Amino acid sequence: MIVTRFAPSPTGELHLGHAHSALFAHGEAMRAGGRFLLRIEDIDQSRCRPEFADSILADLAWLGLDWEKPVRRQSDHFDDYRAALERLEAAGLLYPCFCTRKDIVQAGNAPHGPDGPVYPGICRPLSAAERHDRIQSGIAYALRLDMTAATERVGALNWHDRAAGWVEARPDLFGDVVLARKDTPTSYHLAVTVDDAAQGVTLVTRGEDLFAATHVHRLLQALLGLPVPDHAHHRLLTDAEGRRYAKRDRSLTLRALREAGASPARVRDMAGMGEAFRLGRGDAI
Ligand code: GLU
Repeated sequence: MIVTRFAPSPTGELHLGHAHSALFAHGEAMRAGGRFLLRIEDIDQSRCRPEFADSILADLAWLGLDWEKPVRRQSDHFDDYRAALERLEAAGLLYPCFCTRKDIVQAGNAPHGPDGPVYPGICRPLSAAERHDRIQSGIAYALRLDMTAATERVGALNWHDRAAGWVEARPDLFGDVVLARKDTPTSYHLAVTVDDAAQGVTLVTRGEDLFAATHVHRLLQALLGLPVPDHAHHRLLTDAEGRRYAKRDRSLTLRALREAGASPARVRDMAGMGEAFRLGRGDAI
């Protein structure tokens, strides 16, 4: 049984790029007689707004999608992320990092990884006593994965993408990734991995901008003993000038298009998924 999900962050209104992604995930499930789920990725409480989550649900319903209830909201599941962190901690794979962005920039010469500069490991060698003292003094800290120790623990890994085929997992390219941020007790990589397993997702669909993130998720699946889904990374929809849609393009939000009188069928076509939607629904085309 194919189970897919669409997992937007409620930091703004949905635009045509999101519509493409949601229709893609829905279509992959429907064509296979599978299930389509929704997840609101609201771990970043400073940027996410409940009203955006409400308008996401309204936009998707207007577009003609339906999804299994209940919707999973990440902000309801901090305990799940904490439990995963505790397992990694118990395995000796996490360490607290007290660095600011400035500390990392000033350390200089960090190679660039898929998420930005690779952390130069400043806090990795701190002694247990030093860590304890800093934590006790109230300095904010993130939790990082000791990438070398983690990859040694699980050995070589690979994962499958429907277009790219079998891919060798290269989480090492990211260096010691943050798994719990200073401002929120999880991170994108950890929450997505835990949630995809918790929701029983068998086919992860998302934009190709997140292709490399799958390397980290594959490693976390191995470390946490979670099932390994298949993947389908889709192209990113671009506007007439070839630019990716972004939250700043207010004119092409689904809400703006709807208010300007566009029909759901027209918006599905604009999102490049009109036919895919019809096929997924089993309607005549
Ligand atoms: N929440 C992510 C986003 O809005 C998508 C996460 C995913 O599909 O893995 O870009």
